[in-house]
Amino acid sequence: MGPYDRTGFPWAQSVLVFVPYKKRQACARESDTLRLFHSSSSRFAPTLSVSSSASPPACSRSSAHEAPGRRDGGEASGDGREEDGAKVGLPALDISFAFPQATPASIFPPSASDYYQLDDLLTTGEQSIRKKVRAIMEKEIAPIMTVYWEKAEFPFHAIPKLSTLGVAGGTIKGYGCPGLSITASAVTMAEIARVDASCSTFVLVHSSLAMVTIALCGSEVQKQKYLPPLAQLTAIGCWALTEPNHGSDASSLITTATKVPGGWHIDGQKRWIGNSTFADVLLVLARNADTKQLNGFIVRKGAPGLKATKIENKIGLRMVQNGDIVFNKVFVPEEDRLPGVNSFQDISKVLAISRVMVAWQPIGISMGVFDVCHRYLKERKQFGAPLAAFQLNQEKLVRMLGNIQAMLLVGWRLCKLYESGKMTPGHASLGKGWTSRMSREVVSLGRELLGGNGILADFLVAKAFCDLEPIYSYEGTYDINSLVTGREITGIASFKPAALPKARL
Ligand SMILES: Cc1cc2nc3c(=O)[nH]c(=O)nc-3n(C[C@H](O)[C@H](O)[C@H](O)COP(=O)(O)OP(=O)(O)OC[C@H]3O[C@@H](n4cnc5c(N)ncnc54)[C@H](O)[C@@H]3O)c2cc1C
Repeated sequence: MGPYDRTGFPWAQSVLVFVPYKKRQACARESDTLRLFHSSSSRFAPTLSVSSSASPPACSRSSAHEAPGRRDGGEASGDGREEDGAKVGLPALDISFAFPQATPASIFPPSASDYYQLDDLLTTGEQSIRKKVRAIMEKEIAPIMTVYWEKAEFPFHAIPKLSTLGVAGGTIKGYGCPGLSITASAVTMAEIARVDASCSTFVLVHSSLAMVTIALCGSEVQKQKYLPPLAQLTAIGCWALTEPNHGSDASSLITTATKVPGGWHIDGQKRWIGNSTFADVLLVLARNADTKQLNGFIVRKGAPGLKATKIENKIGLRMVQNGDIVFNKVFVPEEDRLPGVNSFQDISKVLAISRVMVAWQPIGISMGVFDVCHRYLKERKQFGAPLAAFQLNQEKLVRMLGNIQAMLLVGWRLCKLYESGKMTPGHASLGKGWTSRMSREVVSLGRELLGGNGILADFLVAKAFCDLEPIYSYEGTYDINSLVTGREITGIASFKPAALPKARL
């Protein structure tokens, strides 16, 4: 059975025939002779109503397929065309109508990826928050994520829903924070990433970087003032370390903090800072102009001299608003200097937690991709059989599943090492680097399995494929994390080249 047979119209394939623009306009006026629309009860049963002719005129064949399921809900009357050529043709069909054989990710599939039953390794509290986060993400975020990802906009209206996840502040105890175990924090990070990696990055930056820095390095007054609204997501945080000239070698950063009466002046530039275009609270790392050591500051939104500009044209994590920040003599009162940041070493305890969390993002992304593929392969038929019936496809699916089980166990063990106080920087780096590498194989297999739909954000896999790339590179690239572990196991640091030939410098 071919894809068009479901309409019951042998002539339906004629939609592929090119119809000139002027003729289509004329056809659009005839569109009331034939209306094809979605049944609200079933995606798979488009209803047909023919008002006059059983054999529609040739021009109606195109308009018949233009009316239903349009994203803008408009009539098939030529909307979406612009004479200047900026936009040619009609708006896209709704994906459920254009490709009715498989369910898009807006209706998220049930979890099928937890093959070795991770739940058995979790406490009942960890299991229940995992379940709760999964349900909220599937219900509230899955239906809107493709649209916002495409627009590269953050869904601000969804922040109250993200607040109900109850994860902001993660392991922090008191100050209105949930005081979760690191394992609960990690599995919920994966559940968020399973549905949408941008949302997980939003939470990661806000919670595991900005809030954890205040909790670990802030004064008691700062904790009481800033943490409660951040925990409720009524205030949003960001965390600024990376600079245009200092990415992997961030510890060499050159943004300066100069002592002035009553506080500090911050001067310099930051790059890639997630949430920074709208954050209420910016955690900024800068070099003390006197001591040359690293200091930390809480900069408030709207401070004179502060300018954050959105980085455009990203191919991954498109909902996340990453910014370039320029600081021009931004005054920070003394009360907003973090007393606990006096060297780069002081933020390594923050990075220890955030790296564990980032290690769980590729796990979640892989779970979501597997779950979508698992459903898709059973729904989509080719050569008279579901795609799931082909041996090659089963092998790919099983390879993905194997990677996920291994990642879950490594991620879980990393949490246990952290909880027992035994986790080293090398452990955390191996976890983050390795899960992002394994996940690259999962998302690329998933992309293959979905064929053409593997490049459409509507079926999650293409979106996840792109979202994984920045995660592979942030919070220490795969290479830098490998070098951290390499240094630990060999005792030899190889971040800097042994020698550069002078002639080439
Ligand atoms: C989407 C996104 C969100 C981000 N969010 C934040 C944020 O919120 N806050 C923040 O502070 N930063 C953020 N970052 C910055 C991120 O941490 C950096 O991009 C990352 O550290 C890598 O730095 P770089 O991009 O400058 O790459 P580079 O340092 O220029 O590296 C380029 C390549 O060279 C390799 N390389 C570099 N040095 C070595 C070496 N010694 N040995 C071997 N290979 C090496 C790297 O592995 C990489 O492959 C974000 C980045 C992205 C893409």
